[in-house]
Amino acid sequence: MSRFMNRKYDALKPYVPGEIPQDTGFIKLNTNESPYAPSEGVLNCFTRENAALLRLYEDPTNRALNQAIAGYYKVQPENIMATGGSDETIELAMMAFAQDGIAYPDETYGFYQVFTNLHQIPTTIIPLREDFSLNPDDYSNTGTAIIFANPNAPTGLYLDRSQVRKILESNPDHVVIVDEAYVDFGNESMIPLIKEYDNLLVIQTFSKSRNLAGARIGFAAGNAELIQDLEKLRNSRNPYDVTRMSQLAGIAAIQDAAYYRSCCERIIITREWTRRALRELGFHGTDSHSNFLFEAHATIPGDVIQAKLKEHKILVRYFNRERIKDYNRITIGTEEDMKQLVSVLKEICNENS
Ligand SMILES: *Cc1c(COP(=O)(O)O)cnc(C)c1O
Repeated sequence: MSRFMNRKYDALKPYVPGEIPQDTGFIKLNTNESPYAPSEGVLNCFTRENAALLRLYEDPTNRALNQAIAGYYKVQPENIMATGGSDETIELAMMAFAQDGIAYPDETYGFYQVFTNLHQIPTTIIPLREDFSLNPDDYSNTGTAIIFANPNAPTGLYLDRSQVRKILESNPDHVVIVDEAYVDFGNESMIPLIKEYDNLLVIQTFSKSRNLAGARIGFAAGNAELIQDLEKLRNSRNPYDVTRMSQLAGIAAIQDAAYYRSCCERIIITREWTRRALRELGFHGTDSHSNFLFEAHATIPGDVIQAKLKEHKILVRYFNRERIKDYNRITIGTEEDMKQLVSVLKEICNENS
């Protein structure tokens, strides 16, 4: 740290992303990206003509993109705010609505803690149950804002609408932020509930189920007043957060919804195939409703599995945290990726038995 750095950041611990390898040849199952390309409509956005327009600022209100998202989810454009990735949406929501602090589970998306540190927001950490499921009763009347990922990461466990309603209804004076990064892998979104609950804010991303991690597009859905509050902060920070190319790509992705649904269906089928194959190798894990599995082996430690897989050019995500140190989070890739994973794991199990 230089002698010029503001001392208030002394204790800040930045987010540690999954490894992005410099050399090629890795099967990358460590950051929950899609193994499939963006849709044809998205690819067709990247023309010379559109690139030439990069000399101009784009529409800072993201009007066309917000309209497209609103149309798809059958809400009004004033219920939607697109952003430059959902991490940005999460940060804005915490800045806006966590005046009394914020509660979230002990095992969840790492950025929540990074943002609460950055903005010095008091936090209440609520442990998940022994089996990593979230008990809605633990969130009744918290006296703070709440954020949880649904399905959660890295566990993949999902709360249904009645359980989310319970949390919303027992915290009427605080915003409940539902991070739906993985909702499209076989689950129901809570977006329709924004018409019933003025304290519900749903956050989604185009990074996982819409194959656009590199485009940085996320959005918030909520009642018009919540969205106006978020816009106030967004426009005080970076009104040009969704680039011109990303606006076009985002709109095209919404139009090509059928293609993305088919990618998600394929990933779900591959997930279930992989889960069964891992069971036969002595793994156990959560009932993941996401595009990843969260798996531990009966005898081989989690960090050993990660290291051995890396020797075989397969990257998975290991979290060195006490409660989940036996587990690896394994993104679902193509069928071929997962066949390779299973065959390498078979070798590793044989060596270690
Ligand atoms: C990947 C992920 C995000 C981040 O999405 P971006 O739009 O790429 O910033 C947010 N929340 C959770 C739970 C995630 O896993």
